[in-house]
Amino acid sequence: MIKIALFGSTGSIGTQVLNVVNRYPNLYKIISLTANDNAKELEKQINIYKPRVAVITNPEKVNQIKEVGDTTLYFGQNSLEHALLEDADIVFVALSGFVGYKIVYSALSMNKRVALANKESLVSGGELITKIGKGELIPVDSEHSAIWQCLNFNRDKEFKHLLLTASGGAFRAMTKQEIAEMPASKALNHPNWKMGKKITVDCATMMNKGLEVIEAKWLFNTSLDKIKVVVHPQSIIHSMVAFKDGVTMAQLSYPTMEIPIQLALTYPNRLETGTADYDFYGKSLTFEELDTVKFPCFKLALDSAKAGGNMPCAMNGANEQAVKMYLEGKIKFYDISNAIDHVLQKTIKISQLSTQVLLETDLKSRALVKEFFGDI
Ligand code: NDP
Ligand code: MG
Repeated sequence: MIKIALFGSTGSIGTQVLNVVNRYPNLYKIISLTANDNAKELEKQINIYKPRVAVITNPEKVNQIKEVGDTTLYFGQNSLEHALLEDADIVFVALSGFVGYKIVYSALSMNKRVALANKESLVSGGELITKIGKGELIPVDSEHSAIWQCLNFNRDKEFKHLLLTASGGAFRAMTKQEIAEMPASKALNHPNWKMGKKITVDCATMMNKGLEVIEAKWLFNTSLDKIKVVVHPQSIIHSMVAFKDGVTMAQLSYPTMEIPIQLALTYPNRLETGTADYDFYGKSLTFEELDTVKFPCFKLALDSAKAGGNMPCAMNGANEQAVKMYLEGKIKFYDISNAIDHVLQKTIKISQLSTQVLLETDLKSRALVKEFFGDI
């Protein structure tokens, strides 16, 4: 049995990891689970999967968990590492946000195979993470999984360039004036994917694609000029790789995260997912350029990556804080990009990175966003 430590088990990705485990109960065993707020769901999962360890990071929620059987339950912000068990075969990081960085870093340092959904960790700390030189990173994000598949599961294989596809998010077809007035409730109506709130807003701002370009840079050890983006509203082609002989390989399927999630677990094998293969008849697949005027977050993400050092971490922290405030209804759509722009201008670049530098940069950029908007 393959033993899985699952971080972020109550989220959109986390629950789909559990669907895969339910599909193949003789192959996988959950040995740890973590949640932040959702105590009831975590309690349910503890009683179904009977992990050795469970963690709830929000200490105010721990009292809502009554029944844990033989599971050891830890709580509090600093308790996540308790779920990083020595005997885990796969550490699945389905946490949302920069909070995933420390777990990814520790798991790789323990020489673990890390199934990585959490893109914010690589965006902020890719330089340090890729220097560890131990463990193995398995892409879960659908675009990066697609590229990995086009490269025959070999992240070091030579290519000419990568082509990330983007759905375009909830506001693709609107004018800039219309988008400016769109509340978070509308941004959460993603046309093709059902995901957590933060990433769904990131799709509406196109920040998600900016984060994914940076994620691809680190995962496939390449430069930004070899990563292109094309908007493909149907989300059937999940990404492509162009080779020097003029061939472009694409990976296609109906949009469901269970495919890349399951493949991250079963790799190098492919097992049934219950998803039908794509029916081409009567369909048309279309492609457009990304509009960086309507979606300035994309360019801000790339600017931070070009600057390097702690700048992508500052950009990510600013985005996380601004998206939180947009979801709370405190700021408007273009305030997100304005806040990130402000933070990038205020941040003093540090090239000598360490985990401490990243943690401080993240906190500082969140504080700068709060200060930017004042008392609201
Ligand atoms: P969700 O918001 O649905 O889930 C996030 C999970 O992390 C939940 O279990 C949540 O706990 C937990 N969590 C949130 N904040 C903290 C914290 N501060 N400390 C500890 N745990 C925390 O997110 P998604 O599943 O949508 O996304 C997870 C990651 O995967 C993100 O990085 C996202 O960008 C990436 N991703 C997601 C895709 C998707 O289809 N959803 C597709 C590709 C990538 P609780 O529920 O208790 O609050
Ligand atoms: Mg993606």
